[in-house]
Amino acid sequence: MSANNLQLPTFMEFGFDKLNRDVISTGRCTSCGLCVGFCPKIEFKDDTPVFVEDYDTVCGVCYTFCPRTFLPIPEIEKSVFGKVREDELLGVFRDCVLAKATKSDILKRAQDGGVVTSLFAYALEEGIIDGAVVTGTGKRWKPEPVVVTDYKGLIKSAGTKYTKSANILGVKEAIDSGFTKIGICGTPCHIQAVRKLQTLEEPYGLGKENIKLTIGLFCMESFGHDFIDYVGKQLGGIKGIRKFDIKKGNLLIYSKDEEKKIPLKEISQYAMPGCAHCKDFTAELADISVGSVGSPSGWSTVFVRSETGERIFKDGTDHGYIESEKGANLDLIKKLAEKKSSHESV
Ligand SMILES: Cc1cc2nc3c(=O)[nH]c(=O)nc-3n(C[C@H](O)[C@H](O)[C@H](O)COP(=O)(O)OP(=O)(O)OC[C@H]3O[C@@H](n4cnc5c(N)ncnc54)[C@H](O)[C@@H]3O)c2cc1C
Repeated sequence: MSANNLQLPTFMEFGFDKLNRDVISTGRCTSCGLCVGFCPKIEFKDDTPVFVEDYDTVCGVCYTFCPRTFLPIPEIEKSVFGKVREDELLGVFRDCVLAKATKSDILKRAQDGGVVTSLFAYALEEGIIDGAVVTGTGKRWKPEPVVVTDYKGLIKSAGTKYTKSANILGVKEAIDSGFTKIGICGTPCHIQAVRKLQTLEEPYGLGKENIKLTIGLFCMESFGHDFIDYVGKQLGGIKGIRKFDIKKGNLLIYSKDEEKKIPLKEISQYAMPGCAHCKDFTAELADISVGSVGSPSGWSTVFVRSETGERIFKDGTDHGYIESEKGANLDLIKKLAEKKSSHESV
């Protein structure tokens, strides 16, 4: 079938019972928050979606938009990028560059080059978005989706939390609060959920047209919250930790004056089971994808993918929020993307 006559799958009227059988009970759920956010009859219990009413109305929202039921990648690509991928491992992209923030307060708080925070700062400043769904840090490093509207809020939520975050709950909160130009940062599963929501027809008027910008993060896997308990046990507590990072097979833990290391293989047992079903390393369906692999320390690797992404990246650069140059190590990125693409399909 050519890219021009791809057919979108239709809205599927299956209920929570089928979602539970196909996705949740089989360990494929990523706890992205889509089903919980968009259905009042589903809630999280210990980070697992559960049905909280007796009668399953079979409305179809949870099953149709869950990124783990089915993922019509060519149809989404055609709808978002106007074409399907030529590069199997990296998806559709217009450019791949190294980039970093120009503002020192962003660089100080950011995980890598501060590109995510800088692009949202530019987009908020220019009114391209009116709210950004990002991930704040709650008690004991528990990630919390938050909708931020200013520079201060963006800086506060910069940096990577390696535990799963139900960021689609933040998207729903933003829609319900009346935001009409929403940006979201998320791991590949968050972006897949948003793209299904944006691409597939639905009869309910869920407010998906309000999502205007998606910034995806590279992601090999994320972890359950018990990973933080393990770190606490190894280090004698988690007080004072200011940053986590994963580099060269180790989890690096930074506090004010010291850096500690735990081999990744020690924490692999805490990896989210749902990640084993994801083949997407570079957030292939986002407008712009950002990661650390492929760039020197203090820089980010950036895939500029959609027309929207290209415009915002160029204008953010022209307005002095970021600087960029050529030189990303595509071979290394491809190697890791290949490793993730060997995961069992959804
Ligand atoms: C679970 C996870 C695994 C990752 N694995 C890899 C990897 O294997 N290789 C790689 O190159 N890069 C990986 N990354 C991406 C990397 O850690 C940086 O987030 C990325 O390089 C962006 O850096 P930055 O300085 O531009 O971001 P910043 O400017 O610091 O902004 C980071 C943004 O990410 C948001 N965020 C933080 N935690 C989460 C979360 N759990 N879910 C969704 N959004 C979040 C923040 O709120 C903020 O908006 C991973 C990120 C996550 C969240």
